[in-house]
Amino acid sequence: MNVYDSERIVELLAPQGFAETADIAEADVVVLNTCHIREKAAEKVYSDLGRIREVKERRKRDGRDTIVTVAGCVAQAEGEEIVRREPSVDVVVGPQSYHGLPALLARARSANAPVVETAFPEQGKFAALPERAGSGAPAAFLTVQEGCDKFCTFCVVPYTRGAEYSRSIADVEAEARRLASRGVRELTLLGQNVNAYHGAGPDGRAWSLADLIARLAQIDGIERLRYTTSHPRDMSDDLIAAHRDEPKLMPYLHLPIQAGSDRILAAMNRKHTRAEYLALIGRMRAVRPDIALSTDVIVGFPGETDADFELTLAVLEEVGFAQAYAFKYSPRPGTPAAGLDRQLPDEVKDSRLQYVLAAVERSQTAFNSACVGRVVPVLLERPGRHPGQLIGRSPYMQAVHLTAPPSLCGHVVDVEIVAAGVNSLTGKLISAA
Ligand code: SAH
Ligand code: SF4
Repeated sequence: MNVYDSERIVELLAPQGFAETADIAEADVVVLNTCHIREKAAEKVYSDLGRIREVKERRKRDGRDTIVTVAGCVAQAEGEEIVRREPSVDVVVGPQSYHGLPALLARARSANAPVVETAFPEQGKFAALPERAGSGAPAAFLTVQEGCDKFCTFCVVPYTRGAEYSRSIADVEAEARRLASRGVRELTLLGQNVNAYHGAGPDGRAWSLADLIARLAQIDGIERLRYTTSHPRDMSDDLIAAHRDEPKLMPYLHLPIQAGSDRILAAMNRKHTRAEYLALIGRMRAVRPDIALSTDVIVGFPGETDADFELTLAVLEEVGFAQAYAFKYSPRPGTPAAGLDRQLPDEVKDSRLQYVLAAVERSQTAFNSACVGRVVPVLLERPGRHPGQLIGRSPYMQAVHLTAPPSLCGHVVDVEIVAAGVNSLTGKLISAA
């Protein structure tokens, strides 16, 4: 979602005469779009700011001003504290108010004092943003839902991104059509809790994510649809059925389980049990036997015993995920779990993480290897590192490397998979589909 927000920030500042640069020494405005989900991500902000301060001082000596902006969830969570810790910061802006950035930059410039904006304004951000331009890539993100009302006990999202909010069908459709007209072929619909989507439809009723997907599938040019991240509690019947009935909906589902032990799931306030999760997986595989399943796992939640942890490993084994992300539990300020007794030492978290990573590597490799010899449609997205090489994605989200003419970028082509690794596939071009 930060990638999406950053793209929107670039579009927002373009009419002010700003263009994107990869060279920080050239930047008149630096926007650090931050993540607060784990401590490591949040702390990295301050080391980055230290380096940005040095650039700012060097530019100052050359007579050039630099406005340093901290956006995103660290800005939301820490506000004024950021300016206290790093006085070179000029603007702090939360994820629900970045559409005000042009005005905030002007204020910072004229006031010559830091500006902090972390409100959740009534006037919606999406309505205030300029029309989507897109980045030119054939695959794009599109935020359809933000915020979360689930309050898992470990998670900061409900505090930093706020209450659950869905954009209207018309709003999302207009953005999707615009992206399609700019050459986008694949859309990934984003939300912290995307399958809780309930946007106002043209008939005035709340439409589900499945309704939205059916609508977007009618847009010419859009060939593939994905969505992330889903909560197990919100996998509704119509969404499951869409994986059977909608050919443009890709056979891939990211469905975080977090833990395999019901005791820990309850302490996390996940609102689902291990058995309920596995039943859902069964239903997904019944409608779409080839579906690639992905998940998130947290190790070392407070009070997690060896026996609890074994249940997490067992669930990974049982499902055989095509992809999985594993995290050491990180206590976040203000969340209920951070105040629990029996916080685990880092060594325990580390060792559990290693077991999970090894299990994930095994199941990813198995899933990828099973594709060797198959012909799959691949959306070619960008040039690879080697001359003549392109990189694309399979329907199952795997990165596929192959030799193909650059003119095929942005097209879906048939590719025979000839080799598989842990994180990617190698393919041979068969034909442009
Ligand atoms: N809305 C999604 C994911 C949100 S955050 C969901 O409900 O699953 C992305 C992932 O970060 C989570 O799935 C979780 O595995 C991880 N995460 C969130 N808070 C964390 C914390 N305090 N410590 C470690 N991992 C965390
Ligand atoms: Fe965080 Fe996801 Fe739980 Fe919401 S559902 S609180 S975003 S982990």
